[in-house]
Amino acid sequence: MLSDPISRFLCCAVLLSFCSALSFAQNAEVKAPPIIDVHVHAMDINFPVSPMCPNTSKFTASDPKGKEEPFGWVKEQCTPALYPSAPGEYMKDVLAEMERLNVTAVVFGDPKTVQKWKDAAPARVIPGTSFTLGMGTGQHASLEDLRKAFTSGGFKIMGEIGLQYEGISPSDPSVDAYFALAEELDIPVAIHMGTGGSGRANVTMPKFRGSMGNPLLLEELLARHPKLRVQVMHAGYPMIEEMLTLLQANSHVYVDVAGLIWSYPIQEVNRYIERLVDAGFEDRVMFGTDQLLWPKLMAYSISIIQNADYLTPQQKRDILYNNAARFLRMDTVQSK
Ligand SMILES: [Zn+2]
Repeated sequence: MLSDPISRFLCCAVLLSFCSALSFAQNAEVKAPPIIDVHVHAMDINFPVSPMCPNTSKFTASDPKGKEEPFGWVKEQCTPALYPSAPGEYMKDVLAEMERLNVTAVVFGDPKTVQKWKDAAPARVIPGTSFTLGMGTGQHASLEDLRKAFTSGGFKIMGEIGLQYEGISPSDPSVDAYFALAEELDIPVAIHMGTGGSGRANVTMPKFRGSMGNPLLLEELLARHPKLRVQVMHAGYPMIEEMLTLLQANSHVYVDVAGLIWSYPIQEVNRYIERLVDAGFEDRVMFGTDQLLWPKLMAYSISIIQNADYLTPQQKRDILYNNAARFLRMDTVQSK
């Protein structure tokens, strides 16, 4: 008999813990709502880098006389500090995170490396490749190789196009044939515009020009190729006025918030995304990480959208999934 209060309490406690264990087991089987990350890099190399503190609070000045730190990230103790993968483990680690978080990703890189990712996770990888080879090398792929990649190689997006690292405008006639090919084949293009990190031009890449990330530099290109679908990578940060002007004038243009979402002070990041949404472009903002070294960066970046108190639950789903599904013309039901 369980008539005394202590026995009744114990019985309820046992029952409750049994019930919660059961519901945990059921939840574990329910997958998280789907997410599309439109900006991941397939890497095959390991950088010797230390842990990174996302959303640094400030960028430090440097002195040309001393040792110059690329990016100017403040070396601070932070939680979470993000760590690079062990040598040779990066692809496996990122794909495991994508499985855990229910992420499908556009993965950019040279065709051979991207193919490795696609073979390892066919259902989670949308392959992308570009004509700009490496960052700021000035070397470009041949038109014929690209045509093959997009017609018979299974590639779906032309990116990341890194002309800004070469100090070249996306409307420069010298690269127009690549964009003409994308328009002809109805392949969307993803172009790096805006962010560079502190000291990009004077410390690491002498040809990089901040001014070549101005979103309005895309206007002539879009006028020449009215059917081109464009993903402005990094949302042209920090040029919000120019970005909004371009979005208003061109309704085939979307933005991604990759890189910017974890590279700059958090209030600044939230203000920038909020401006895009408040201006009426909530259906053209796509989630992305610019995943390139630290596997836990994806979960961290997703949490910034999920914790944004200025976004409604529907706007969060649109940014994390629906907008990219529409831009990429994925044959899928919209997610609520
Ligand atoms: Zn970029």
